[in-house]
Amino acid sequence: MTAAASARQILTSLHEVMASRTHAQAKLNQVVETIGEALSSEVCSIYLLREGMLELYATRGLNQAAVHVTRLGVGEGLTGTIAQNIETLNLAEAATHPEFQYKPETGEEKFHSFAGVPIVRRERAIGVLTVQHTDPRKYEEVEIEALQTTAMVLAELIHNAGLVDSEDLDRLPEAHSGQEVLTGLKLVKGLAIGQAVFHQPRVTIEQTVAEDIEAERQRVYLAFDRMREQIDAMASQAEFGVGGEHEQVLETYKMFAYDEGWSRRINEAIDSGLTAEAAIERVQQRTRMRMREIQDPLLADRMHDLEDLANRLIRIVSGQLGTAAQKGLTQDSILVAKNLGPAELLEYDKRRLKGVVLEQGSLTAHVVIVARAMGIPVIGRVANVRGMVREGDEVLLDGDAGTVTLRPSAGVLSAFEARFARSKEKRAAYAKLRDVEPFTRDGERIEVMMNAGLRDDVGMLSMTGADGIGLYRTEFQFLVSAQLPQRERQARLYRDVLDAAKGKKVIFRTVDIGGDKSLPYISSEAAKEDENPAMGWRALRLALEREGLMKAQARALLEGAAGRELNVMFPMVSEPWEFDAAKKVFDQQLAYLKGRKHQLPSAINYGVMLEVPSLAEVLDLLLPKLSFISIGTNDLTQFLFAADRANPMLAERYDWVSPAILRFLRRVVQSCVGYPVDLGVCGEMGGRRLEALALLGIGIRRLSITPAAVGPIKELVRKVDTRDIGEAMRGWLANPPQDLRAELQAWAQAREIEVE
Ligand code: PEP
Ligand code: MG
Repeated sequence: MTAAASARQILTSLHEVMASRTHAQAKLNQVVETIGEALSSEVCSIYLLREGMLELYATRGLNQAAVHVTRLGVGEGLTGTIAQNIETLNLAEAATHPEFQYKPETGEEKFHSFAGVPIVRRERAIGVLTVQHTDPRKYEEVEIEALQTTAMVLAELIHNAGLVDSEDLDRLPEAHSGQEVLTGLKLVKGLAIGQAVFHQPRVTIEQTVAEDIEAERQRVYLAFDRMREQIDAMASQAEFGVGGEHEQVLETYKMFAYDEGWSRRINEAIDSGLTAEAAIERVQQRTRMRMREIQDPLLADRMHDLEDLANRLIRIVSGQLGTAAQKGLTQDSILVAKNLGPAELLEYDKRRLKGVVLEQGSLTAHVVIVARAMGIPVIGRVANVRGMVREGDEVLLDGDAGTVTLRPSAGVLSAFEARFARSKEKRAAYAKLRDVEPFTRDGERIEVMMNAGLRDDVGMLSMTGADGIGLYRTEFQFLVSAQLPQRERQARLYRDVLDAAKGKKVIFRTVDIGGDKSLPYISSEAAKEDENPAMGWRALRLALEREGLMKAQARALLEGAAGRELNVMFPMVSEPWEFDAAKKVFDQQLAYLKGRKHQLPSAINYGVMLEVPSLAEVLDLLLPKLSFISIGTNDLTQFLFAADRANPMLAERYDWVSPAILRFLRRVVQSCVGYPVDLGVCGEMGGRRLEALALLGIGIRRLSITPAAVGPIKELVRKVDTRDIGEAMRGWLANPPQDLRAELQAWAQAREIEVE
């Protein structure tokens, strides 16, 4: 008989047992008989979790008097070890295992061989299925597989019969239990407490035994098709991907998605009588076990990719496709994901979303910028967090220390809560600076503005007392819409923003789409071929070619600012002609509105972002035409260092407080001397205290930063004497020290200026 046929026979008998009208205990009794028989084992037993202990619920071969009497702690004996580690044991001689424990009431001393598999539901062991035999022989692989398949079906039976209550399930055991502290990269500071929620929820398999094998085969076939389509689409949209590693990952995905072996194994599992979902999970379990034996870090990485794909396949086949955002958050939540796009993050309910943990991510990735604007702490580059955390686990996220604590102990939790309260006090202290003007000690007025992009962000202006909005990222409206926002809608947003700003200055940046800001409705053949999207067809480059887009936005901005001052900034200007071309679009629209006697803005100022290094070399040609320049250090850094801002591998490699960046920026400051051009910095760099101190040192007097940083930066400004830091910086940039960051830190410390 083939392996599939014998497994099928077992499943058929199990199916009959499950469908029978007997009560649960009788069903379990029948199951142990069936399995014992099929595997020619004298003993077959089922242990189930009750009140935190594993209790012998049914047995063939052990003393019946031991049923409901023999109980083992999780982690105790072989059975407890299986439950604790959620892993299979297969031993020729049970007594040789270090965890072996003898229970006299069972009469098991005469049995030598032992095999056991965990019965798993929602990633936790709710019981253990064991077989024993007098001959000292290891069970064969097909037998172990039959046991594992049986355990899957049993999990369903046990759940349906209510044999394990959910309280027990919530208590223990699980793949990872007890407190665990993971470290990652600090992407957005702050503290958060909440329950773990997977961005892509795990599917709990409700039906394991197939009613109609042909139908299951068809379901899995269609799901494979659909998954392959998705992967191909992802690959062809790589221009908006997350950069760097994504290509390699996609290649691996493709390899798995088209892997004949994988689909064949799933089909075999279906042949044995499982539903499509159960078959995929079954094959996945088997692969997991094999991989665990190999212990190769490279393979482990690939394993994550395969897990990802298997989860995707299960979601497709079961029709449970929504993200956690679409399902809605029901409590304070910490979102766990491999990576996210900015638009995906924006779908979450801000009141419930307290923090984000990513396996990837970098400081200037747009999803991180959006989270920062939302005031949501983020930790990135936490390896395999999705494998360590369970949905619903309590999570403490410390964005200041870069740690994620899973399932904290009571002591750790209360210490964290105390820190949380203190940080709230600190925030309240910053809030007091709201109406205080940021003058340095030597009397320089520093303009502290904020970055925004969502309608609600504007409210932060009055809350923080920022001087205005130095960067309004208009593309965020495009990111959160399902289609291209109509001109009227755009105009309405700009009008609302100006209303809410109550006369404070707002600098609108025209759309910066592309790079890591993906828009499904704006793609083209040119973009699809972009291998390096950050340096590709994005921002002004795209807008100038998609003239309709630029025209509509120009008109919307002119209309939205009717009767008021309009400040327009163009992103990614690399050469002066691009500014001219963009301004021409505005001039044409202005003429059009004038001709129709529409009310016009009271004044229009044009500026550029300096974020492509080439512009710095020809700035003198453009300066006479500009009212302002804003240095976008996020992009500028990636271009200066040739280091993709979205690539997590490079996230910590280059330092903003380094001579290369600071010398470059100082040169830009010097080029602007003598022109009536307002110069500032609007990259993430300006919102960090040490970096801001360095910027003041090279002569920057306007910062536009994330709202949460306005208070801390105002406080910093008030402690700085720009002459002092200017002089120190001149010395360091003339003769750069080994570690400029450390020098600057020491300098600040000596003057009692807090910079962390
Ligand atoms: C920048 O590049 O520094 C910037 C502020 O713009 P964005 O982050 O939106 O590219
Ligand atoms: Mg930029």
